[in-house]
Amino acid sequence: YAAKQRQAGVITYQAGLDSGSQESLTLLGELRHAVDHGQLRLFLQPKLDLRTGRVVGAEALIRWLHPERGMVPPMRFIPFAEQTGFIRVLSMWVLEAVADAAQALAARGHTLKIAVNLSTRDLMDQELPAKIESLLARHAIDPAGLVLEITESAIMDDPQRALGTLDRLHQMGLKLSIDDFGTGYSSLAYLKRLPVDELKIDRSFVMNMESDVQDAKIVRSTIDLAHNLGLTVVAEGIESVKALRILASLACDEAQGYFIARPMPADEFADWLAAWTPPDLRLETSLLEPT
Ligand code: C2E
Ligand code: MG
Ligand code: MG
Ligand code: MG
Repeated sequence: YAAKQRQAGVITYQAGLDSGSQESLTLLGELRHAVDHGQLRLFLQPKLDLRTGRVVGAEALIRWLHPERGMVPPMRFIPFAEQTGFIRVLSMWVLEAVADAAQALAARGHTLKIAVNLSTRDLMDQELPAKIESLLARHAIDPAGLVLEITESAIMDDPQRALGTLDRLHQMGLKLSIDDFGTGYSSLAYLKRLPVDELKIDRSFVMNMESDVQDAKIVRSTIDLAHNLGLTVVAEGIESVKALRILASLACDEAQGYFIARPMPADEFADWLAAWTPPDLRLETSLLEPT
C-alpha cells in the first residue's frame, strides 16, 4: 500500500500538489535522494545545421532513473521541482553534467553547442551567473558553447528580474534561446529588449505543419520574424524527412527531432555522432505551396 501511495505521488502531482502535503514531502525527499544517489541521467538530443546536415549542437534533457519506476520523464517531476524551488538543485546538476559531457566530447574532437533548459526560479537566483561562471572556469569551457533555453512564460513571470540575470549571462558570452516559441504569452516588445540569440519554434507547430496550413504559415512566419530580428531559428519536433526538407527550404537554421535522433544517454552521443551521415536536404516540390 505504501509503495502504491508513493507511486501515486509522482503520478498525480501534475494536478497540482499542495506543497505542504505528505505526498509532496515524500516526492521532494525522493528527488533529494535521487540527486545524492546518482539516479539522475543526462540525455542529449542532437541539433542539425540545415544547410549542411551536420550536427552542430545538442539539447540536454534530464531523466530520473528510478529504481522501481524506471526512466521517469521530466514532465513527471520538473513542474514539481519548479513549484518547490528544488529546480535550482536540478539545474546545477544538469549544468555540471553538461560540463562533463562537453569535456568528454571535446576530448574526442567534437566542439558542439550544448543547450540547457532553465526555469523561472533559476532566473530569479541572483547567484546563477556567478555559479555558471565558476562552472565554466573549472571545466575550461567556452561560454559561447553553452546555450540557455528559456520559455517566454519563465521570463514574463518577473520580466525585470529575468532581464537582469539574462543580461549578465549574455555579457558572459552565453547564448540565449527562447524555447517553445509561440506557445507562451509572448510579447514582441520584450523580445526586442531581451538579449536573445535564438528562437525555438514549438514542436506543436512543426509536427502539424505537413497537414495543417495554419501551422505551416506560423512556422514560416516565425522563421522570417527571427531572421528579420537577426536571430537564429531552430525547429524542434521533426519526425519525418519531409519536415526536415521543408524546414531546410524555408531557410530554418537548425533542426531537432525524433527523425534525426531521440534523446540518448550522454555517454552514447559520441558514438552516435561518429556514425551520423548528413541526409539529403533537397525538396523537389514545396508542400507549403500546393499548385
Ligand atoms: P523542451 O525543452 O521543449 O524539450 C524538447 C522535448 O521534446 C523533449 O522532451 C524531447 O524529447 C521532445 N522531442 C524532441 N524531438 C521530438 C519529436 O520529434 N517528437 C516529439 N513528440 N517530441 C520530441 P522531454 O525530454 O520529455 O522534455 C520535456 C520538457 O521537460 C522539456 O521540453 C523541458 O521543458 C523540460 N525539461 C527537460 N529536461 C529539463 C531540464 O534539465 N531542466 C528543466 N528546467 N526542464 C527540463
Ligand atoms: Mg528546451
Ligand atoms: Mg521546446
Ligand atoms: Mg517544452
